[in-house]
Amino acid sequence: MTTEFTDSNLEVFYSAEQIHTRVTELGSQIAADYAEKDLVVVGVLKGSCVFMADLIRAIDLPLAIDFMAVSSYKDGTKSTGDVEILKDVSQPIRGKDVIVVEDIVDTGLTLFRLMEILGSRGANSIAIASLLDKPEPRIKKELKIDYCGFQIPNKFVVGYGLDVAGRYRNLPFIGVVKNPEIV
Ligand code: 5GP
Repeated sequence: MTTEFTDSNLEVFYSAEQIHTRVTELGSQIAADYAEKDLVVVGVLKGSCVFMADLIRAIDLPLAIDFMAVSSYKDGTKSTGDVEILKDVSQPIRGKDVIVVEDIVDTGLTLFRLMEILGSRGANSIAIASLLDKPEPRIKKELKIDYCGFQIPNKFVVGYGLDVAGRYRNLPFIGVVKNPEIV
C-alpha cells in the first residue's frame, strides 16, 4: 500500500521503497551476524519506532524487544551530552547481545552517553543500528554505528519516525522540510 502524503513544504529524500530495500538488507545482515546469540533489540523512543517495527520483522531470528526513552539536555538547539532516562528497559541485559536502535545519529552525544549507561550493565555485546547517520556535525567521532541505513548530509529530515515539533513521524518516506518557518 502506498499512501500519498501531499505537503508542498516537503521534498522526498528517501522513498518508502528505498527505505524498505535498505531495511531488509540490514535485517539480513543482522540475522547472519546474530545466529545462535541471545539477541535483545532496544528501540530508543520515540524516533526509532517506525524503523524498529520494520527492522525486527526483517530479522529472521528469535529475538526479544525492549524500549528506552531518554531526554537529552539541550543548550539552545544542540544536545549537551547529559541524558536523563525517562523509561528504562524492562529486563536485565546482563549476558545478552543487545542492538540499540536509533533514528538518527547527529552529534552522537545522546547515543554515546546511552552506550556508557548500557555498557555498565554486563551485556555480552552492544551494537548500534541507526537508520540515518549525519556524520558532519558529529562530536563523538569514536561512536561506531554497526548497522547504518543511509549516510546523509547536514540537513534536517523528517518522516519514518522523525519529527519536527511533534509532526511528520507518520510519513512513510524520509523528507526534508523546505521552509521550517511554516511547519
Ligand atoms: P545527537 O545527540 O546525536 O545530536 O542527537 C540525536 C537526536 O537528535 C536524534 O535522536 C533526533 O531526535 C534528533 N535529530 C538530529 N538530527 C535530526 C534531524 O535531521 N531530524 C530530526 N527530526 N531529528 C534529528
